Amino acid sequence: MTDISAHTRTRTLKSVDDLIAAGLLSAVPAAGLDAVADRYAIAVTPAMAVLIDPTDTSDPIARQFLPTVAELAATPGETSDPIGDAKHEKVPGLVHRYPDRVLLKLTHACPVYCRFCFRREMVGPGGAQMLDTPSLAAALAYIAADPAIFEVILTGGDPLMLAPRRIAEISQALAAIPHVQVLRWHSRVPVVAPERITPALVDALRVEGKAVFVGLHTNHARELTPAARVAIARLIDGGIPLLSQTVLLAGVNDTAEVMAELMRTLVSLRIKPYYLHHMDQAPGTGHFRTTIAAGQELMRVLRGTLSGLAQPVYVLDIAGGVAKVPILPNYLEPDGQVRAPDGTLYPDPERG
Ligand SMILES: *Cc1c(COP(=O)(O)O)cnc(C)c1O
Ligand code: SF4
Repeated sequence: MTDISAHTRTRTLKSVDDLIAAGLLSAVPAAGLDAVADRYAIAVTPAMAVLIDPTDTSDPIARQFLPTVAELAATPGETSDPIGDAKHEKVPGLVHRYPDRVLLKLTHACPVYCRFCFRREMVGPGGAQMLDTPSLAAALAYIAADPAIFEVILTGGDPLMLAPRRIAEISQALAAIPHVQVLRWHSRVPVVAPERITPALVDALRVEGKAVFVGLHTNHARELTPAARVAIARLIDGGIPLLSQTVLLAGVNDTAEVMAELMRTLVSLRIKPYYLHHMDQAPGTGHFRTTIAAGQELMRVLRGTLSGLAQPVYVLDIAGGVAKVPILPNYLEPDGQVRAPDGTLYPDPERG
């Protein structure tokens, strides 16, 4: 990691040439990447670039952020909108799939572009970046008009890319709607761009009389750097509870050891693991996909070895916007026997 150039430490790398100049890609394997870059956005923040060891071909940070030609390969079942956002989009930027909560997609921009992103056909510099003012007004009116909406999930892209002033305005507008009780911001910023979590941002997120959560997307314990820990503590000490969301990624976190270390690290930082997502069927992501059986096996090991506090719920978003469902291993057999994490079967407690 010694020959990473100085500019890697100060600005986001946004092209194949930037990555080569920073010593993160060698020019030879970079051949063919122009076609990838034409299709999908690239961004590696300084905080992530310094973690990458370009000499290690299995580096889990590199695998998440550096483009590869594997992204051009289509796998059966992959679609541009795997979780069916479009089907439930009621006004631009607002997705309403469940009666009591909506997604409000404030921006298509992200601090980094993850190679496995489930919204990869929508995020990035290609689309309009920020939700425009009339669309935001229409979304707020939609939320205000439906008293069943208890929670608003701010997402994107990454909504913490907005300036604190904008975040405060949107928070206050939502807070003025009496039936909205919970604001949940989904973000990767505290990990990949921790310098953005300023006291001003924390103030902007907090709203009088409403519960505000941040759902942090993180996939490997190595992402939780000292700077990320400062950002996380600043949010939590500012009164904002944190949850985590992790994507199960082949070659990044698909072993029980790596996943256990991540979950324990999160709990030690006062973050409650929330979801472990099975990979969605986004285009060109086949090289990241594991089987559900492998994910369940991993969850069995976690259940047998880790604190209950450190257990995420393993979930699958059924393709096409149907629903998000838990796909945890089953501990209760159809005949009523109960399976211990080591596989041993015990009698039905009801039948004795
Ligand atoms: C994932 C998702 C939610 C949030 O689901 P939770 O289980 O509450 O985290 C809400 N709406 C849509 C459309 C979603 O995809
Ligand atoms: S931060 Fe989230 S939305 Fe942005 S590229 Fe990564 S997975 Fe996609």
